Amino acid sequence: MHYQEKIKNLSIKKFVRPFRKTRALFDKATGNPIEMNLDAYRRVVSAIKFRDFRGLPDGELKIRSKTLMAESRSVLKVHRRDAKKAPYPPHEELIEAFALVREASRRVLGLDPFDAQLIAGLAMAGGKIAELPTGEGKTLAAVFPAYFYALSGRGVHVLTFNDYLARRDAAWMGPIYEFLGLAVGCAREGAQARNKRHAYDCDVTYATAKEAGFDLLRDGIAISAEDLVHRPFHMALVDEADSILIDEARVPLIIAGVGERATWDTHRLAGLVKASAPGRDYETDAEHRNVFLTDKGAARLEAALGCGSLYDAKNQRLLEAVYCALHAEALLRRDIDYIVRDSRIEIVDEFTGRVVVDRHWPDGLQAAVEAKEGFSRKTKGRILGSITLQHFFRLYPRLSGMTATARPAGREFKELYGMNTVVVPPNRQSIRIDEPDKIYTHREAKRAAIVSEIARVHPGGRPILVGTASVQESEGLARDLERAGIGCEVLNAKNDELEARIIAGAGKPGAVIISTNMAGRGTDIKLGGEEGQKLEKVASLGGLYVIGTNRHESLRIDTQLRGRSGRQGDPGSTRFFISLEDELFERYGLTGRLFKRYRLSRRPEAVENIFVSRDIKHAQRIIEGQNFDIRRSLWKYSELVETQRRIIQVWRSSVLNQDQGFETNLGPVAEKAPDLFAAAIARFGKRETRELERRLTLVQIDDAWSDHLAWVQDARESIHLVSLGGKTPLSEFQRSATDEFLKIRPRVEEAVIMTLKSILAKEGPLDFDAKGLIGPSSTWTYLVNEDQFGWGIEMLSGRNVGFAAGAALYAGPLYVFTLLINKFSKKKSKH
Ligand code: ADP
Ligand code: MG
Repeated sequence: MHYQEKIKNLSIKKFVRPFRKTRALFDKATGNPIEMNLDAYRRVVSAIKFRDFRGLPDGELKIRSKTLMAESRSVLKVHRRDAKKAPYPPHEELIEAFALVREASRRVLGLDPFDAQLIAGLAMAGGKIAELPTGEGKTLAAVFPAYFYALSGRGVHVLTFNDYLARRDAAWMGPIYEFLGLAVGCAREGAQARNKRHAYDCDVTYATAKEAGFDLLRDGIAISAEDLVHRPFHMALVDEADSILIDEARVPLIIAGVGERATWDTHRLAGLVKASAPGRDYETDAEHRNVFLTDKGAARLEAALGCGSLYDAKNQRLLEAVYCALHAEALLRRDIDYIVRDSRIEIVDEFTGRVVVDRHWPDGLQAAVEAKEGFSRKTKGRILGSITLQHFFRLYPRLSGMTATARPAGREFKELYGMNTVVVPPNRQSIRIDEPDKIYTHREAKRAAIVSEIARVHPGGRPILVGTASVQESEGLARDLERAGIGCEVLNAKNDELEARIIAGAGKPGAVIISTNMAGRGTDIKLGGEEGQKLEKVASLGGLYVIGTNRHESLRIDTQLRGRSGRQGDPGSTRFFISLEDELFERYGLTGRLFKRYRLSRRPEAVENIFVSRDIKHAQRIIEGQNFDIRRSLWKYSELVETQRRIIQVWRSSVLNQDQGFETNLGPVAEKAPDLFAAAIARFGKRETRELERRLTLVQIDDAWSDHLAWVQDARESIHLVSLGGKTPLSEFQRSATDEFLKIRPRVEEAVIMTLKSILAKEGPLDFDAKGLIGPSSTWTYLVNEDQFGWGIEMLSGRNVGFAAGAALYAGPLYVFTLLINKFSKKKSKH
């Protein structure tokens, strides 16, 4: 044994180990979803490393891989049973597979996988989330489990953060798989169905999560089995898992097709609402998430529209449209929630600060915002299918993921997906310094402090990255800096095309970048500029200085921003400047409470009171918890619709895959109207009639499902009205959605018969391309931005949601505890 190894073995770690074991047992007993003890993984890693293939010729490795593949395809049962329990006790194939990938990586990529990568790979093979810091090589780590599960031949999806990364990773890691005899594909956004199918037929497929989801939706309306691109799902590995699996979990993917539904004159409503006075005609709540029409406001609108009472049952749709217009006017702010570019509304994501491509608000609100900005509608269509990302991921029998910020989301991974998080330490320890927050009483004082801090540090040449909360704030700060004579660059949703260039220069001496959250995830800021020419100099100045101008609703976002500095052992430091008037605190009613509690008055200098900062941290944690609760409750609404979607899909695919041989009998609809079908058979023949029934049924199912989705959307949009009426919104929704769903089947059968009648009434040969026998002539896909909707909060009847954060400070934990008890008992009595 090498003497260094010996010393390591003698180290204190050995004596601490028993305690770590106790800790692990304790964690297991208390259900802690975060695993810190890696002993079991390390044992498997040694077993993998012990199996050193360095001496074997290429041919031998390939044969071993082939053998493994053959074995795996014959003993699938074993895998299925052991998968959840992996990595301990390790089984033979897992070790062999990892050892093969390790050697292949050395040979074809020249990368010798670190232990940390093997551990992360093992964690993922065990269906867990691996936390591995940025820049540590997660792309390679994912190859190990992907290869292992792809051996069975059932297709593994590696889901990346964006399309660029899907292509990059497939091309970069491809040679390893190919060396070992597996096929790799990349399902690129916008590719033709033929190419997509080819990509999904490969053993390992790289794609973005949303594209894979959109493909599922497209498959859901296919008219012939040959048009399907997906195979049955087997396993998915998700990169940047906290963002995709949690932050985006509720985002619905939508497929829409031509055809439209009647709507109100949104422009007229927008004009009327614009002319209304806040406070008199409508009010918003403190969290700025809900808006309410006052009696006066309702009367004004009723007079202008001449519609009678808005609250009449017949005016329900109109009332919804009014609420959408109010929401657009009062709650959505240009340059904060969205920007206008190329005469289009582009939604800015609250978490990433980026424009989210392909994203809309729910239809009514989207139309209202377009009307508010004076645009005519461009997207006319009806929704044909939809699924939330979370439901989509749950379709995979096996799921695992990786990210650099998993730990703070550990509880959510557990609750939403039942996955544990394994924390793998970095190869090199971070030496970044996170300075304590500077807290100011009001915004102007904070802004002045940020400017003077930059003015202090900048002349020395140390690069500075400022993370702001909105496009508006980033522009305001840039103006202030200019006035102070400091040159800076702004990176926000409005100029995202400059991103690569700005980021490339962000680590140069003297750089000052004002950014929204955009620079948050995945960006790699190289100290000293692109080639690191001035690395030494910048490092000697203390590395990148990250300044945050706001705390976010989620601590993870704060962490990602800090994480731009001090990468891979670089020096760096971070500091947040906040004020008690920041939007986050105002929205949750903290501002007034803090002022009162500490008898503060507005002052230019920072508040040096550790209790204030402790309270702020505490409140942020509570807010995060509440958002989690909201997500969880909203989940209940989509859960039912997802169940219905699956039922419809089972029915639909049985029709789609109906045996088309002419010996078989006709389908169930034919039994309902035997005379009609007899007439069709007499005229077109049995085979054609059967195909006719199949097509008609598919098209009618899609039609009925689309109507159902429209119904669900209306129901959700009007649900806050229900809650005002004193009923429990969720159970009310579930009851009527179920009633509505049960009507689908008879409706489809009836429609098939009706259409068949009209076909028979026409002369001439059968035309399979006629209307009613093909799907919509064109379809498109997009994501819906539902997060900013007040309904969510209202549905929980949770006015106290915002209040709780303030209340927690006011009366301490005991109060929150009572509040929770109350909530709980209320829930019990309602359901
Ligand atoms: P992450 O996704 O974890 O941020 P990447 O997968 O993008 O990191 O890899 C970051 C860098 O680390 C890449 O340039 C890659 O070549 C390098 N790298 C990965 N694994 C190894 C290794 N085993 N040895 C040396 N370099 C590696
Ligand atoms: Mg990565």
